[in-house]
Amino acid sequence: MENNLTMEKLVSHCKATGFVYPGSDIYDGLANTWDYGPIGVELKNNIKRAWWKRFVQENENSFGVDAAILMNPKVWEASGHVASFSDPKMDCKSCKTRHRADNLIEAHSKGAVKPDLMTNEEMEKYIAEHHVCCPRCGNFNWTPIRQFNLMFETSRGTIGDDQSKIYLRPETAQGEFVNFLNVQRTTRAKVPFGIAQIGKAFRNEITPGNFIFRTIEFEQMEHQQFCRADQSEEYYKTYKQKAWNFLLDLGFAEDHLKFKDHDKLAHYAAAACDINYLFPIGWSELNGIHNRTNYDLSRHQEFSGKSMQYTDPITNEKYIPSVVEYSIGCDRLLLATLCEAYAEEQLENETRIVMHFHPAIAPYKVAVLPLQKNLSEKAKEVYNSLRKHFMCTYDEAGSIGKRYRRQDQIGTPFCVTIDFDSLEDNCVTIRDRDTMKQERIKIEDIAKFVSPKLEF
Ligand code: ATP
Repeated sequence: MENNLTMEKLVSHCKATGFVYPGSDIYDGLANTWDYGPIGVELKNNIKRAWWKRFVQENENSFGVDAAILMNPKVWEASGHVASFSDPKMDCKSCKTRHRADNLIEAHSKGAVKPDLMTNEEMEKYIAEHHVCCPRCGNFNWTPIRQFNLMFETSRGTIGDDQSKIYLRPETAQGEFVNFLNVQRTTRAKVPFGIAQIGKAFRNEITPGNFIFRTIEFEQMEHQQFCRADQSEEYYKTYKQKAWNFLLDLGFAEDHLKFKDHDKLAHYAAAACDINYLFPIGWSELNGIHNRTNYDLSRHQEFSGKSMQYTDPITNEKYIPSVVEYSIGCDRLLLATLCEAYAEEQLENETRIVMHFHPAIAPYKVAVLPLQKNLSEKAKEVYNSLRKHFMCTYDEAGSIGKRYRRQDQIGTPFCVTIDFDSLEDNCVTIRDRDTMKQERIKIEDIAKFVSPKLEF
């Protein structure tokens, strides 16, 4: 990551190249919604694919689901979200902006004070005693703290009464929990086994912001490991390590990551930690790992009236399994990936912006560039044959130097140049994004040359 990378710089790079645009752009946007452009959607799909490969395909006894976003509202009563999925909000009466009391305290104390451990009264007292002013207008003119539920409500049918109230899911996890018995029965899996899901979640965040770090609509990638209570501690350690290794394998520098144990555990949790990443806004949560005991399945048993018990086929023991959860925001990981990959490098006569993505997640794998326009027929032939193997792009506009720079900016790991000799010898020059070294290889060998470097 570039030392002087700011969020503003990254946002403008993303807008200019087609990674991410502001949502509803021509209508002046909708605050904290973002749309992925042609390059961004490739990066995002590749991140999801890499995650799925690691946590489903290669993960022993793990299975995927894709559950509905809209669930029976009882699910959210059972999960505790209706009663307590809320943040402590305060409104600034001067500029009419809304803020999270815990965030105000954390920012004011530069992380020294842990608002997670404070009651609302204690937070109000801290804010008054330290005269914590509104970060927007600088005034000290707060409403008292009120708890603000983060779930988006909508309604079914035409009558907007409580009967028809449903919620956009605020997390994907419940889709895995309610399908525990379905998956166990249909796969004939024995505990311990895992259920994974990638999908959208929605939160009416009070202080959204910082680009795609915190948005009101985002995607989560989650893996729930169902196990016996006495296995949960070991699985907690295992998933901490797996989550960490996944990031290192994507190319994250170890000193940009750290574990952070939760200061305050939910009453049912046996252990919980985050992996924090050094974003341009400072160290912030990238993902969480939680030992949730058998709370989730027990609550669903209570609220649905259906037994969530598992019978061990060997010992005949009946029990409600415990859950070790690993949850990572896809958009937040994508943001971290952009930060980690971004570099400004001084060349002889210019500075290049280059995205050093792991080739497995790079939006395009190969750019095909004819040295001159009259070589386009041959170049298109090469382009069309390579597109059968992986995402490629084609560019014949501008000098070859400019075209290399354009590919560097979006992180294309290989550029293939067709020159006049190519017509004779059926060879091309292939340039490596990171080393900028070029070598000459046969056209028929390009896919064989590139493919192994894309493995994850
Ligand atoms: P935070 O403390 O940042 O609000 P959280 O602890 O509420 O996050 P979880 O409920 O554990 O987060 O969600 C798991 C993951 O989902 C987070 O680690 C993060 O990567 C992602 N995530 C959560 N909320 C958002 C959001 N509003 N926008 C983007 N990603 C999010």
